[in-house]
Amino acid sequence: MSGTKLYEGKAKILFTTDDPNILLSRYKDDATAFNALKKGSIANKGEMNCAIASHIFQYLEAQGMATHFIKQVSPNEMQVVAVKILPIEVVVRNIAAGSICKRLGLEQGQPLKKPLVEFFYKNDDLGDPLITDAHVAMLDLATPEQVDQLKQLALDINQHLQTFFDRCNLLLVDFKVEIGVDVNERLLLADEISPDTCRLWDKAISDPTARIMDKDRFRQDLGNIAEAYQEVMNRVLAT
Ligand code: UDP
Repeated sequence: MSGTKLYEGKAKILFTTDDPNILLSRYKDDATAFNALKKGSIANKGEMNCAIASHIFQYLEAQGMATHFIKQVSPNEMQVVAVKILPIEVVVRNIAAGSICKRLGLEQGQPLKKPLVEFFYKNDDLGDPLITDAHVAMLDLATPEQVDQLKQLALDINQHLQTFFDRCNLLLVDFKVEIGVDVNERLLLADEISPDTCRLWDKAISDPTARIMDKDRFRQDLGNIAEAYQEVMNRVLAT
């Protein structure tokens, strides 16, 4: 049935449409962190992230990347291709921050020699653990061919996003993507690209806290959260 809620996540709700191949993704103001231990809301985040993600999906499509984006249909809603999301969160890192610093003892802000791709098992009960290719195979999360494609796709997206955010005077520290498989077994970039899923640092600011323009402001209670998202949106939409 059209308009039926299919799935409600932490930041978005997915609805069916008249067309079984098309879903409606509604972006919410809700914000969560630390596996939903911290819950809150960021004023107008749904509309800001929907606008940012729509713009970035269109940019990536123009660069030849396959995404699930069809069109934005309201300030906080977009039509997307119905896909089966692989239960893997793919993280790409250019600069050390967040969980990798805790895990490997790296210094926050340390540039990595080359972009690093990591896989996390999308499983809230387990707290999304880091997994290797061997775990992906053992758990049957993706085929070995899909794993190779995922890594290449992640690195290609990183290149395009680095170029894009550089034009916004933002440093792309790291980000998470989710990949879906369409009816033709093609891999599509799905979910969202926004300050919820990317670490973005203002290139014009050297202070390590003041430069944070993403969800870390919420995670770390740094204040001016909506203002940072607004600034990212302004720069993204102008690029
Ligand atoms: N990330 C995300 N969703 C998650 C976990 C991470 O969008 O469930 C993003 C996060 O915003 C950051 C990148 O993935 O841009 C790497 O996150 P990290 O592994 O450092 O985890 P965190 O420190 O956020 O717990």
